[in-house]
Amino acid sequence: MSSLLVDNIGELVTNVPAAGGDGPLGLRRGVALLVEAGRVVWIGPARYAPAADRRIDAEGGAVLPGFVDSHAHLVFAGDRAAEFAARMAGEPYTGGGIRTTVGATRAASDDDLRDTVHRLRDEAMRQGTTTMEIKSGYGLTVVDEARSLRIAAEVTAETTFLGAHVVPAEYAGRPDDYVGLVCGPMLTAAAPYARWVDVFCERGAFDADHARAILTVGQSAGLGLRLHANQLGPGPGVRLGVELGAASVDHCTHLSDADVDALADSATTDGSTAGDGSTSGDRQAGTVATLLPGAEFSTRSPYPDARRLLDAGVTVALATDCNPGSSYTSSMPFCVALAVREMRMTPAEAVWAATAGGARALRRTDVGVLRPGVRADLMILDAPSHLHLAYRPGVPLVRQVLHNGVPQCRL
Ligand SMILES: [Zn+2]
Repeated sequence: MSSLLVDNIGELVTNVPAAGGDGPLGLRRGVALLVEAGRVVWIGPARYAPAADRRIDAEGGAVLPGFVDSHAHLVFAGDRAAEFAARMAGEPYTGGGIRTTVGATRAASDDDLRDTVHRLRDEAMRQGTTTMEIKSGYGLTVVDEARSLRIAAEVTAETTFLGAHVVPAEYAGRPDDYVGLVCGPMLTAAAPYARWVDVFCERGAFDADHARAILTVGQSAGLGLRLHANQLGPGPGVRLGVELGAASVDHCTHLSDADVDALADSATTDGSTAGDGSTSGDRQAGTVATLLPGAEFSTRSPYPDARRLLDAGVTVALATDCNPGSSYTSSMPFCVALAVREMRMTPAEAVWAATAGGARALRRTDVGVLRPGVRADLMILDAPSHLHLAYRPGVPLVRQVLHNGVPQCRL
């Protein structure tokens, strides 16, 4: 069995405080890390490092778990650069542009969609993302939703059925009929390729009754729950997500005190602890608040109040929301920098949220942390510390990425 030693590490972010590291990131120095068969098998003082078949010299750079981007919409065709330019010239974002992408996506070939998914996934990987959730939601027919998920499943296990992204034009004025389609034949066609079901619960999209119906029937089909909620204004989405035991409610830009309390209460009943190796039962694990600052950046909207959530004890994740309309970035380092600068997260909180937090939002215990037994998904920075991700915004600091223990970039 081939082994790979990563040494000369400036700082190792483990996200495992209990293992003797400093602070919530479980920082360790003077250590090396051994990979075998796609897993981390040993972390310890560099001077005791076992012999290995191959070696990667981190050259004093920081080593972190790969980013876990728990919210992305990669299966689409076309772009909406002109809509972005119009918005920057003063037009508001309403979400209506989604229908533009739906038309382009339906008209695209499988290979066109596949090329876009692979291109964006590779782009994200070069920036340190080793786990990526991918949603459907630009097909909105039985056939197009199923093929979107089938293509997404070629590159990730974290696929999400988002037939309830927007009511398509052919169902204008008949949302109940469309929800019937989503809950019936569309779900049946999509479920074999999906791990999760999601609903855009927002004024102008789907209301709480629709969201509850779709999530409930999705859960009966064996899918985990997630929700787009409280992005454009206050609403019932966050509390509905917590009530139904959703793994994550995403956006969380407009929250009432009751919303924050509900999220915090779900976190305190969360039996899992970061990095303990246990597989938490889905219904026991709390609901994560996933913040998507790329969307506020790209729509020039007020950012969510991450400080309020963190101070209340809510588990926070960061993700890109990569999509052609409201957040066309695949860059988790960019989101970390925005979170620190604009959402009053500390660099450590932002890095945790982009790694371990994303893993929580996907209910994964094998990624987002570095300890023996987990997947060897990690990045090496051209910088001595995780602080540089926010301190040096816009700079391509990720020098190497290991995915399942396999180096992805130049050595
Ligand atoms: Zn989204």
